[in-house]
Amino acid sequence: MDVEAVKTDMIIVGAGPVGLFAVFEAGLLGLKCHLIDNLDRPGGQCTELYPEKPIYDIPARPKVTGQELVDDLMIQCSPFDPVFHLNQQAEELVKLADGNWRMTTSVGEVIVAPIVVVAAGAGSFVPKKPKYPNLEIYEDKSIDYSVHKMDKYKGKSLAIVGGGDSALDWVLSLQPLAKKITLIHRREGFRAAPDTEAQFKQLVADDKVDFIIGNVKALNGGEGQLSSIGIETIEGDLIDVTCDYMLPFMGLKISLGPIAKWGLNLNRKYITVNTETFSTDTEGIYAIGDVCTYPSKIKLILTGFYEAAVMCHGAFKYAFPDRKMATGYTTTNTAIQERLGV
Ligand code: FAD
Repeated sequence: MDVEAVKTDMIIVGAGPVGLFAVFEAGLLGLKCHLIDNLDRPGGQCTELYPEKPIYDIPARPKVTGQELVDDLMIQCSPFDPVFHLNQQAEELVKLADGNWRMTTSVGEVIVAPIVVVAAGAGSFVPKKPKYPNLEIYEDKSIDYSVHKMDKYKGKSLAIVGGGDSALDWVLSLQPLAKKITLIHRREGFRAAPDTEAQFKQLVADDKVDFIIGNVKALNGGEGQLSSIGIETIEGDLIDVTCDYMLPFMGLKISLGPIAKWGLNLNRKYITVNTETFSTDTEGIYAIGDVCTYPSKIKLILTGFYEAAVMCHGAFKYAFPDRKMATGYTTTNTAIQERLGV
């Protein structure tokens, strides 16, 4: 095993609502989980696509917003100390000689476990790339599509592009430590929370952030290091903005990505499972939530929760055949209550 590999019981690909509930169900059985997600926070579609919209069909929750549901799932699974690997894609999956799976993420983190659960929804949310000339020369060197460590931008001049929540949120977060921030957006209006927009406008009014309405036309620099970007303003003027880093936030698209290369039984972009345990046709790999398919499948959060429970029992028996499984009710089983810390 690699020196830097972390060992756990269950690797969950996707920290959407179904992945989060799987942590809870696995925890009741005494299993530890690591979750990997491309996004910078847990919640999948609920927090990324409809955080403030009410959901009406979660059992016993007559009305709950996407964000509230995820906040509660996080509280519910917290007794089991899940480890989150955010801002990274589950990329390479290899079977080891001892029967374990070794997962390597896009930032080189390595996790080893006997059970892999694909709870990947419709796939990874990946950033939409702008169509700038010579973009690939600067990508991952001085153009970043997400912020991994804010310290990287300390004392630097930043050009942030976009008019949604991500662009404005990062202007607010990075402004105190960057040397200079210029926000470039193609029009005057924004698609951001009113409070975020108000705070941004205050920074512009206080001359703490520059705001340019226009389109990026040229990337200038050498050997991957940007020195400035050329912008055509809404008035048709061409101006150069000095910057060390550019952060384009143009929205996200969904793609199955590396999962399609793991040799699983795919039916279009869905993974076929055996509904007895939600196992795939590859030993030790399970699929639950929107990403799995079977006759009568309904793509809803509540079905994903059921799949998570059944999967955990099946995966436990497969990976730990000699261990006694603590089954029973949370109301009455003291072993389960001890795990929950209640
Ligand atoms: P997702 O929520 O899609 O989460 C999957 C996660 O996996 C994502 O965060 C993704 O980034 C990550 N991921 C995928 N591949 C990788 C990889 N290789 N590496 C790292 N991370 C990866 N359902 C209801 O039940 N009721 C409703 O009222 C309802 N309303 C909805 C409204 C809208 C507008 C939308 C879009 C959906 C709605 N849904 C509703 C559907 C519901 O959101 C989904 O069924 C649910 O989110 C599925 O959960 P999941 O955990 O399976 O997948």
